[in-house]
Amino acid sequence: MREQFLPFSPPYLGEEEIAEVVDSLRSGWITTGPKTKRFEQEFRDYVGAPAALALSSCTAALHTALVLAGIGTDDEVITTPVTFTATVAVIEHTGARPILVDVEPDTMNIDPARVRAAVTPRTRAVIAVHYGGHPCDLDALRAICDEHGLLLIEDAAHAVPARYKGRLIGSWENPVAFSFYATKNLTTAEGGMLTGTQEMINRGIIVSLHGMDRDAWKRNDRSGSWRYDIVTPGFKYNMTDIQAAIGLQQLRRLEAMHARRREIVRLYNEAFAQMGVFELPTERSDVQHAWHLYPLRLIAYRVAIPRDRFIEELRARNIGTSVHFIPIHTFTYYRERYGYRPEDFPVAMDCTEREISLPLHPGLRDADVRDVIDAVRDTLSAAGSTA
Ligand SMILES: *Cc1c(COP(=O)(O)O)cnc(C)c1O
Repeated sequence: MREQFLPFSPPYLGEEEIAEVVDSLRSGWITTGPKTKRFEQEFRDYVGAPAALALSSCTAALHTALVLAGIGTDDEVITTPVTFTATVAVIEHTGARPILVDVEPDTMNIDPARVRAAVTPRTRAVIAVHYGGHPCDLDALRAICDEHGLLLIEDAAHAVPARYKGRLIGSWENPVAFSFYATKNLTTAEGGMLTGTQEMINRGIIVSLHGMDRDAWKRNDRSGSWRYDIVTPGFKYNMTDIQAAIGLQQLRRLEAMHARRREIVRLYNEAFAQMGVFELPTERSDVQHAWHLYPLRLIAYRVAIPRDRFIEELRARNIGTSVHFIPIHTFTYYRERYGYRPEDFPVAMDCTEREISLPLHPGLRDADVRDVIDAVRDTLSAAGSTA
């Protein structure tokens, strides 16, 4: 058995990130400034977005997108129960009502047919989450949104670099929110990016920084002035140059990090397909998966122990795992506010109850991958399941 605990998702940082952060600290410019602007431009050019705005988190980016769209009280926003709480909380913060709909059984992404069925005269937007880094069925979602005049917002917290029909997520004109949280494919410790039209981003600059009417970071520059106006009660959602310093170097590593993720997925798939007791993660033929997660699903009747026990057994073998996600509608707040029952979203419940996310990050060595596979095999045979 493995001697040291294998953490689920540590950040993958090198000397380049450290040097770039030190450079910022020495430069005298630690908050939003030249590196943040450069990170925005390089990220925008990388994904091929019309424009990009670096923010303090993906949560901030999603909230900003909703506010810029004027979404508020009496509006409805359709989204998925298979996501992190932030996707739905930001809808609540605008005063709008989140409308959850079930997911597709293969990708665990929002089901376009169920989106269509949930549209009402109050619906204003759809937030599609690219679960685990697998793009949603964007053509189908766009068709529904176009037909009903809805805004499509993408939660791309997992989806860099993901492609739908050859194009990178973030390269269309609708708002897309990325996360650079510590565990994500590209990290700035905490951080996010909003992409979309230049017109939207221009308004986003104001809303995300106190509602100030100008590039406030320039106020500390020689060209700046002490005078500013407030045109709306904005938020404090800006990214700092220390975060952007990390992001600039992470962006240079992104392709290599993604290649390593794919290689690990290949090793996992080969091993777990043979065991015959798991549903492997899907990659549809028209996408490039960002492989943020490796969500393995137990085939319940073939595995002799329940999922939660499986996780404990892996932990006992020094393998850290996680679950993505605890469905939103099962949390106290949403249950009590909207009267949801677990069975309201049967596909989401079934998929997430059987799911285990295995370690998947570029820092994993082949020996680590073998340790994970061995621990899974050992757990199965100890439980008396076929392995
Ligand atoms: C991580 C995550 C978020 C939130 O990202 P932050 O940058 O931490 O705000 C939103 N949605 C999903 C699906 C996530 O996994």
